[in-house]
Amino acid sequence: MNLTTSLQKIKGVGEKTAEQFAAAHLHTVEDLITFLPRKYEDFSHVTSIADIQPGKVTVKARCEKIETRPVRRGMKVTTATLADDTGKIQAVWFNQPYRATQLKGGDEYYFSGEFEFSYNRFQLTNPSAEKVSDMPVQTDRILPIYPAIAGLKTQLVRKILAELRPLMTMLPETLPEKIIKNENLVSYSEAILGMHFPETREEIEKARERLAFEELYQLLLASQLNKQENARLEGWMIHFEQAVVKEFVSNLPFALTNAQRIAAWDIFQDFQKAIPMNRLLQGDVGSGKTVVAGIAARQAAHDGFQTALMAPTEILASQHAATLDALLTPFGVRVGLLTGSVKGKAREALYAAIKDGEVDVVVGTHALIQSGVEFHKLGFVVIDEQHRFGVAQRHELLKKSVRMPHLLSMTATPIPRSLALTVYGELDVSVLNEKPANRKPIMTKIWSPNSRPQLYALVDDEIQQGRQAYVICNLIDNNPTNDLKSVEVEYKRLKNSVFKHRQIGLLHGRLSPAEKEAVMQQFASGAIDILVSTTVVEVGVDVPNATVMIIEDADRFGLAQLHQLRGRVGRSEYQSYCYLVPSDSKKPSQRLREIEKSNDGFYLAEVDLQLRGPGEIYGRAQHGALNLQVATLGDTKLIARAQKAAQWFAQSGDTLVHYTQLARQVEHYQRLTTLN
Ligand code: ADP
Ligand code: MG
Repeated sequence: MNLTTSLQKIKGVGEKTAEQFAAAHLHTVEDLITFLPRKYEDFSHVTSIADIQPGKVTVKARCEKIETRPVRRGMKVTTATLADDTGKIQAVWFNQPYRATQLKGGDEYYFSGEFEFSYNRFQLTNPSAEKVSDMPVQTDRILPIYPAIAGLKTQLVRKILAELRPLMTMLPETLPEKIIKNENLVSYSEAILGMHFPETREEIEKARERLAFEELYQLLLASQLNKQENARLEGWMIHFEQAVVKEFVSNLPFALTNAQRIAAWDIFQDFQKAIPMNRLLQGDVGSGKTVVAGIAARQAAHDGFQTALMAPTEILASQHAATLDALLTPFGVRVGLLTGSVKGKAREALYAAIKDGEVDVVVGTHALIQSGVEFHKLGFVVIDEQHRFGVAQRHELLKKSVRMPHLLSMTATPIPRSLALTVYGELDVSVLNEKPANRKPIMTKIWSPNSRPQLYALVDDEIQQGRQAYVICNLIDNNPTNDLKSVEVEYKRLKNSVFKHRQIGLLHGRLSPAEKEAVMQQFASGAIDILVSTTVVEVGVDVPNATVMIIEDADRFGLAQLHQLRGRVGRSEYQSYCYLVPSDSKKPSQRLREIEKSNDGFYLAEVDLQLRGPGEIYGRAQHGALNLQVATLGDTKLIARAQKAAQWFAQSGDTLVHYTQLARQVEHYQRLTTLN
């Protein structure tokens, strides 16, 4: 038996079990031993009921009198009496009606949960339950709980892992010995054993530290290698001509911020190298990224290169096309717009113009990566809101050039340092850390849903002064099973009552592209006072005269999303306001309190990373696949250690050839994180 042995050959694994494992992508011995526990139940401290104290406890008790009853609409409460030889306590589960069938009266279980005072008595809340007769013989220890696999009991997983234990003791080391020693890590074999058969909490901690370190180390090494590979590519050299840039800048309706100047300078430096640029332009919402891309596109066009700018939505693509058209046409630079709604003859004509080099800057959505699109001489690629695209999509666009074009990825979602180091380690970064001088911080307030009339009075005041407003709702149409606000209902309500005297617009993703475009144009021109919209306006939309935003059911949105949405206001010299209306008048969530108190995207991104983890924030397309099992990208200390070790390795002259498993993982991460 070895790591590649099929699970089916293991004692205790029948055909059916093997199928269930396979459904969870567990095929080989290696798959199963790296299938790690989700959490642990600590049975090394079992309390007798007579000695029980408030807090986290485990008791070994018989289950008596179990029953489930509905309490409120939808809510079910299951209660049971738990008894051992020293006494009795009450257990309660909320919305876990399956407990009533899982637990048999008279049987003995280990119950672990919080013993606390609630509903006028002390009780054990939402305890987990493990049947005593299902447990391994030696039960006075810490028991791993595995992620649920359809149909498979965690007990069975444990049993099969016990069969594999001898093999685990012989697992070869996967990291360079020197790193193990310097970082004081346990060996790979000890770590795997420690995860599956821990005897103490410390063992789990040491095992986790080792495995998390390894994951981060692999990621960091992957991004270093990506960077080295990028440096070996041959790209286009785009010349920098100061006069051209000066002329462009002096024609702008505003003065560039210092940060914009520096970012543009960074790009020109990269343009002049033979290595393709791979740069991330990070700037908080409203910091003025588009114009930076515009300056660079101007320079590229001057040197005979085409630019492609890809944006995630049609609304945004057409807005960018209009902005760039206004900025670039005076210099004879021709801008084209390619989206899904450019069809038939028009599309053919545009394709031909792109191919013949009659269009210099092509702005578009995913339509840009279709096979029919051929460029004349693509030298510069800009990806706006880059986290909205997957690796494959970026790759498709870059492939449209004979040589690797210069790449500028733009994002308004600030990337915490830890992520910047790991996932984006290969990128050069420019940061727009200041907003245009005329901006006032947006005033943000959590507003009770019971006080809407006062809120509408404030909004009406703003409109009276010539400003415009957004009302953001979660849903398109009404869903009878909950009370969340939908744009359609809200639109009708506002139009027919409170704001009868105002022009109201409706925008959501199910409108046709032409309808969306028309609504956006009316809003941008000021013909619409209040735009009731779903999150289709979340990214990029720029209507500087809009100064008020109401976000309905604000507690339903993520922090990064709220910050992005809010970024639709505060884009001019006028004072702007954002009102967060929660779906009920309970105490507002931490998310809402954080966003109320801060306008700083970097700070909020750090908070968000802590609250939700990176996968949710930085685009599932890319990072869902990272699938870090143990490491968290919020663990800056461990990241710093792994970074040091990766640098040491890169300089040591050692090569990955000596580390098969490491090499395989690093290669996997390289493919996932590369931006070009
Ligand atoms: P984002 O960084 O969110 O993509 P945009 O590029 O959409 O921001 O710019 C936001 C708004 O600020 C636009 O209306 C743009 O014309 C304006 N703007 C950009 N740079 C400046 C500046 N230096 N001074 C004043 N306004 C600016
Ligand atoms: Mg933008």
